Amino acid sequence: MNLEDIIQDAYQKVKNLDDQGKVASYIPELGHVDSGNFGVHISTIDQINFGVGNCYDKFSIQSVAKVLSLSLAYRIVGDKIWERVGVEPSGTAFNSLVQLEADKGIPRNPFLNAGAIVISDILLSNLENPKQDFLDFVRGISNNTTLEYSSRIAESEKAIGYTNVALCNFIKSFGNIKNEPADVLDFYFDLCSLEMSCKELSELFLYLANNGFSIQSDKSILSESQSKRINALMQTCGFYDESGEFAFKVGLPGKSGVGGGIIAIHPDQYAIAVWSPKLNDKGNSFKGMKFLEEFTTKSKSSIF
Ligand code: GLU
Repeated sequence: MNLEDIIQDAYQKVKNLDDQGKVASYIPELGHVDSGNFGVHISTIDQINFGVGNCYDKFSIQSVAKVLSLSLAYRIVGDKIWERVGVEPSGTAFNSLVQLEADKGIPRNPFLNAGAIVISDILLSNLENPKQDFLDFVRGISNNTTLEYSSRIAESEKAIGYTNVALCNFIKSFGNIKNEPADVLDFYFDLCSLEMSCKELSELFLYLANNGFSIQSDKSILSESQSKRINALMQTCGFYDESGEFAFKVGLPGKSGVGGGIIAIHPDQYAIAVWSPKLNDKGNSFKGMKFLEEFTTKSKSSIF
């Protein structure tokens, strides 16, 4: 079977499953999405682009954007970034405060909210117009000038983001936030509000399947070593408290977000994006996880 048939088959099989997940509604605007949406899109190094279902509908990528902010910060400051954030799985919730006290304000990894807030602070210190410059960076990766933030989602999160406010202030008290917490949080909420479709997401993330080099824009986004390391972090820390399970069942580096999106990377082969808004009890897309397990099993394309 070719990739397209495998995707069709896996999609049909998972589409009909009884979805036991729930749409995230702690950010009120996220709760308004149609929970029946389900889309998949693959982009390969050999230029196969194929999608099914709601693969052209835009959705809120939320924490998937943390990979993009990490990419830009790593590109700008290099290995000094690891003085401010760790590279270990946390074993705690994505928005947890508990380890920060013992770790003296150094978040365990850049995909926890705490870690992504520190990365936001690094970008604020290094970009002239952080919001626009970050958007330009993201657009430039895959030459897609239509990518946008959603002010509707960002405002909705700003209105209830008390835990993130607490995280940012707590880290600031240890000296690991250099800018004003309100400015850092504004930027963080904006970056989480990026919207795109599965098609746009798989095209955008192809650079991580291609050693840091973007095929669409014909330029290097990250060095080979940086790209390898970001894939390693996605493998170990990309799925909240379910990263081990994702490696076990799917076997690819990836990152999920509370909007129900997942991006997964097969180095040297492809990037695949899945979106289905209902989340399992670990906060990952219920159908997204099931689809990717079926897909890598049938296509024999896990990295293990
Ligand atoms: N903006 C969300 C938050 O900070 C991101 C959560 C996620 O997708 O993991 O809670």
